[in-house]
Amino acid sequence: MRVELLTVGDELLLGDTINGNAAWLGRRLADSGVDVTRSVVVGDETDVIIEAVTAALGRADAVITTGGLGPTYDDLTRDALAKAAGVPLVRDAGLERRLRERAAASGRELQAMAFRMAEVPEGAGLLRNSAGTAPGLRVELPGGTVYALPGVPFEMRTIVDEVVLPELAARAGLPAVARRTLRTAGIWESVVATRLAEVEAMEGVKLAYLPEPGEVKIRITAAAPDAAGRLAAAEARVRELLGPVVYGAEDETLDRVVHRLLAERSATVAVAESLTGGLIGAELTAMPGSSATFAGGMVTYATELKARLLGVPEDLLAEHGAVHPDVAAAMAAGVRDRLGAGYGLAVTGVAGPEPQDGRPVGTVYIGVAGPGNSPTVVGPRLPVPGSGPEIRAVLRRMTVVHALELLRR
Ligand code: ATP
Ligand code: MG
Repeated sequence: MRVELLTVGDELLLGDTINGNAAWLGRRLADSGVDVTRSVVVGDETDVIIEAVTAALGRADAVITTGGLGPTYDDLTRDALAKAAGVPLVRDAGLERRLRERAAASGRELQAMAFRMAEVPEGAGLLRNSAGTAPGLRVELPGGTVYALPGVPFEMRTIVDEVVLPELAARAGLPAVARRTLRTAGIWESVVATRLAEVEAMEGVKLAYLPEPGEVKIRITAAAPDAAGRLAAAEARVRELLGPVVYGAEDETLDRVVHRLLAERSATVAVAESLTGGLIGAELTAMPGSSATFAGGMVTYATELKARLLGVPEDLLAEHGAVHPDVAAAMAAGVRDRLGAGYGLAVTGVAGPEPQDGRPVGTVYIGVAGPGNSPTVVGPRLPVPGSGPEIRAVLRRMTVVHALELLRR
């Protein structure tokens, strides 16, 4: 079973949009045992799309296209497929009804253009899209099958996982596939990979590491007749080998875990931020319901404000500057007490690109003050990612992750 990818859109050719769809599809299909033999990008031009699809089906059994299924006149994939198949575009009554219902529900008037989304090449199959309005299309051409998917990444992925992959797997006689993503924080990718060598060696199991600043996601894929059983065994072993650095699974992000743990104790947290400038507060208020566990925050950027608003001793600041473990501890206790929260979380450090008070870029101190206890402080020396303007953004993001991770523990 050979599959080619065709991503459609001028924005991809011009570099305005990074071709994430091709990257995701390549990975996903390979993980599932489907051979991707070529990946092509074309602009929004009917003839070029027809030519590319026809050529792809001269080599492969199926081609997956993304993009160009929307309502605007530069969305040309469905026109191209109708022409390639030598059939007219026909209006699908069910799709038209859904368009009208959606428009009515949101009080919008349908533009004539919108009805293009209800048109399909005669005889095409509709691929259910539980994530949006426009379904994907299955068009049979003499050389093979075209799966045409919307460009919006979330919708495209949903249709692939729910419809296209099971269909391709069945056609190719591939074993069932089961996947799970585990999330870790505060451990390097190379350490994770070294510790998990024995899981990598398990038959029918593949691991992929997806690093982000301060975190590594581990995707476990089991492709075998007993995929679910193997996946469960692999997950259990990964959790044993990594221990508490695994903080969640799937879309259970660190802020959600922290929120849940605080809610279980009916506790709140207050934050005092320096180098992150409010990013921790933003993270802890991202989810609905955060008011139950997030009391508030202070962005005490100026050294003088750390003393005046948080009560950090002035002699401490005079002697060591603002980037010091005792300052992080005093900020954490200070914000906890002043905002009347159960926990105080504080960060101070050097986000760069220049050193500060003789301390190198990447020096960060994080303090957590719990109820009653004297504050815990950690001082991870964050690795400086390359050189250039992205240093600050990455170090600030890493600091957010390390801070939430310390609070979680
Ligand atoms: P819609 O029905 O939403 O118009 P569509 O099928 O017409 O979808 P496009 O208009 O081509 O798709 O793209 C919609 C959006 O999806 C684009 O704005 C772009 O951000 C994103 N997108 C499209 N193709 C890709 C791609 N290959 N990689 C990543 N993102 C993409
Ligand atoms: Mg579009």
